[in-house]
Amino acid sequence: MEILSYIVYLCASVLFILGIKKLGSPKTARKGNFLSSLGMLIAIVITLFDKHILSYEYIIVGLLTGSVIGVVFALKVPMTGMPQMVGLLNGFGGGASVLVALAEYYKFLNDNSLNITSTISIVISVFIGAVTFTGSLVAFGKLQGIVTGKVVKYPLQHPLNLLLIVSVLAGGVYFTLNSGMPELIIAIAAVSLLLGVFLVLPIGGADMPVAVSLLNSYSGLAASATGFVINNNMLIIAGALVGASGIILTLIMCKGMNRSLMNVVLGGWADAGSSSSGVGQSSIKGEVKSVDAEEAAMLFDAASNVVIVPGYGMAVAQAQHAIRDLMNVLEGRNINVRFAIHPVAGRMPGHMNVLLAEANVPYDKLYALEDINDDFNNVDIVLVIGANDVVNPAARHDKNSPIFGMPILNVDYAKTVIINKRSMNPGYAGIENELFYGNNSLMYFGDAKEAVAKLVQEIKTL
Ligand code: NDP
Repeated sequence: MEILSYIVYLCASVLFILGIKKLGSPKTARKGNFLSSLGMLIAIVITLFDKHILSYEYIIVGLLTGSVIGVVFALKVPMTGMPQMVGLLNGFGGGASVLVALAEYYKFLNDNSLNITSTISIVISVFIGAVTFTGSLVAFGKLQGIVTGKVVKYPLQHPLNLLLIVSVLAGGVYFTLNSGMPELIIAIAAVSLLLGVFLVLPIGGADMPVAVSLLNSYSGLAASATGFVINNNMLIIAGALVGASGIILTLIMCKGMNRSLMNVVLGGWADAGSSSSGVGQSSIKGEVKSVDAEEAAMLFDAASNVVIVPGYGMAVAQAQHAIRDLMNVLEGRNINVRFAIHPVAGRMPGHMNVLLAEANVPYDKLYALEDINDDFNNVDIVLVIGANDVVNPAARHDKNSPIFGMPILNVDYAKTVIINKRSMNPGYAGIENELFYGNNSLMYFGDAKEAVAKLVQEIKTL
């Protein structure tokens, strides 16, 4: 049986690796998801047949409760609520690692079978798992609006965090040498829980998706350490995969925002997430010109090369289906339509790709920033739908702007830019956008879904 479980765990690990590889492209992502789920299913089944399980009652109760909660969440949580949902799930992963590590510790203690490897793994698992648990709960609270989304600064913030980290490390070393002290590992867990809160609280709301991705990586590391505790190769591999992919994603997001990881973790983007500055008190020179659906439709009628730039507003309005209709109508009139996707448009990586794929927009119409940015000069109309920060030219030239240096889509180089949003309100970085005042810019105000549907109707009447 032991050999069989090793082989099955190995197969499950291979399925996880193949699954992650396939997640690399939208075309194969569904298959990747399926392969990973299959890996998890066979891993669970073989674990349930394991001879160490004495009674199935608690397992069945846990399975049913978890499944019901999971199904309700999956059906109820809107696409825009995904980052906090992922944050919460990371937290549960971290919490589970702590509980498993502590349970194993007491088992080892009773059997008198603690060794140095298991003790070190228990400390690491408890430390990272507990930080992930409370850190993720704070991240969830911030994204959900329960905890303030602003950067929270308090006196002696960094020295206090450093003190907590040093005390956990010192406690961990002492515990490794004197492992028969249950009160010490509980104290390490308690301080780590506190540390999770203090580390995530200062991070501003706009940076929270990056923090969630980092916590996701931590939850993987905690699971991997727990794999060493319970001597389970599959958990070690799966945890390492989550840990590595989480950190890669975090770095991609930081690069897309031109931020360093340290700057995010230390709460550097002070005003991000406040979304209140700049309304009605513009410091940008220029005039805002607006169009209605009919005027916009006439402009499209004369165009032959169109690029659509979706942003967070498209996700809020769930306008992806209306945008697909617009694409069909324009293509029916022999107009070339492409989509330009910024790496951090929306509120999570791949946010726009997922929504457009849901509306059956073909993948080959989606262009990454680096593949389309040099071509905006040749574009007749760029239609910006609910995007703001990712098309803000200040990122290119205004050294005082918080987004200075962030790569942006050069939509202002196109012949005409039509920007759809509901008002002149800023985006997530909380700053004004000079694009809206450009000579070639036209604002098309309204909720994205309704506005695009109206535009489609008008184009059809021409
Ligand atoms: P922004 O947050 O900059 O702007 C979104 C705009 O959408 C707002 O200005 C808002 O204006 C408009 N909007 C909101 N609701 C609607 C609606 N119903 N219909 C039409 N428009 C609407 O979005 P971007 O996608 O341009 O940029 C993403 C931002 O999030 C960047 O700052 C990025 O750094 C940050 N971020 C992204 C992450 C990611 O992984 N994708 C992770 C972390 C941060 P109005 O209220 O006037 O309608």
